[in-house]
Amino acid sequence: MATMVKEVKDSSLRLLPSMDKLLSNEQITELIARHSLVEVKRSLDGVLDELRGVLISSKAVAVSRDELEREVVAKVQTRIKEVTSSSLLPVINATGVILHTNLGRSLLADEAVEAILKVAQNYTTLEYDLKAGKRGSRYSHCEGVICDLTGGEAALVVNNNAAALTLALNTFSQGREAIVSRGELVEIGGSFRIPEVMAKSACIMREIGATNKTHLKDYENAINENTGMLVKVHRSNFKLTGFVADVSLEELVRLGEKHFLPVLNDLGSGLLIDLQKFGLPYEPLIQQSVKAGVTLTTCSGDKLFGGPQAGIIIGSKSAIAKIKANSLTRAFRVDKLTLAALEATLKLYYDEEKALQSIPTLRMISTRVEELEKRAQNIVADLPEEVKKQVEIVRGKSEIGGGSYPGSFLDSVLISITPHKISVIELEEQCRLGSLPLIGRIHKDKFLLDVRCIRPVEDKTIVVILSKRLI
Ligand SMILES: *Cc1c(COP(=O)(O)O)cnc(C)c1O
Repeated sequence: MATMVKEVKDSSLRLLPSMDKLLSNEQITELIARHSLVEVKRSLDGVLDELRGVLISSKAVAVSRDELEREVVAKVQTRIKEVTSSSLLPVINATGVILHTNLGRSLLADEAVEAILKVAQNYTTLEYDLKAGKRGSRYSHCEGVICDLTGGEAALVVNNNAAALTLALNTFSQGREAIVSRGELVEIGGSFRIPEVMAKSACIMREIGATNKTHLKDYENAINENTGMLVKVHRSNFKLTGFVADVSLEELVRLGEKHFLPVLNDLGSGLLIDLQKFGLPYEPLIQQSVKAGVTLTTCSGDKLFGGPQAGIIIGSKSAIAKIKANSLTRAFRVDKLTLAALEATLKLYYDEEKALQSIPTLRMISTRVEELEKRAQNIVADLPEEVKKQVEIVRGKSEIGGGSYPGSFLDSVLISITPHKISVIELEEQCRLGSLPLIGRIHKDKFLLDVRCIRPVEDKTIVVILSKRLI
């Protein structure tokens, strides 16, 4: 019996096409022309090894020489496609979540993209002072604009807000107590939690107050000779309502001054323009935090601010100088691409109207429903008749996302699709796995595309994708 199985396997293995035979296969020749002989050979080797393994380890008997050859070719085609295509791909975000963390948060303004290209292709003044003709500081680039826009004395840009917070805590509270309210021990997602960030920053977290109420006297009573700083964290992704009490930033600043203690305010989302006029609730502005007199304010660059991933620290001259001198700063330093994109984004804020128009995150938030309705109608009008029958325009709600504006929604316009020939699950999957992935959501047997976060230049692409999938 054993010998018979072995014989069967040997004969299956003999059916595997040889490398020479495969290299003369028409489809393989095409692949070689498009890629390279080395690349195709490497994939062929891999696929042949894999098939040998399958034939040896299973009882499966190879069907025929031709069929095996077709299988090898198909596998090589897939493998080359995987190897040569990027893993980080552009997608169309039709989820209705503007700051979708999994889809990369903020899109950059054209001005920021141009700035990135310029510094990517050229040598730059990253750490070079042109006037003096000698070494300069990479931290000098965005500082002036940030101070101009926020009223701050000094500023520092690092990799993200988590880094900004870690640096601020470590610089002022290493081995000492950082006082924070129990109502502000926020978890942001991923692994970012205030207690853990405090521990990693080597400071001792001194929790005060209760979950729902913290009073000034709670801070006051906790202050001792080992206190390093007073910390306030914005509840960016949850709301506390009911029987609640909080200490204002101004009160905390006064307390800090009385005891010569620095006050840190982590804003989370960096907001420079009041968005209440677009129907959103109040969210603290960076300028207000600076004006209240806190020693250090930290925020993200790629949330509501609408720039690249970055952490922005704004503060007094002496506090920022102290952070710059911390050796940890080097580990969190930003690269030239981030600085270029951030500086270009910041400059757009000199003109509020321009910022609202040019910064995609702000543009998506401020687009009026009437305009979204018009775009949805144009998309549907361009669809073939057969597809139109499967599509409807409905009203819905978009979210800001990115851990900001918890529980708040923006009125929006959605394209709601009920596919006739495939299931809604198949439609969602086909759109998601297409060459330009289209990410929407399924709700009550409909596939929904929220127009608010679809870029206007993508409207025509939506027409092409829906026409392809629904006919
Ligand atoms: C988002 C957020 C952070 C983390 O910011 P990243 O830029 O993602 O590192 C920290 N604190 C608060 C309050 C936040 O909302």
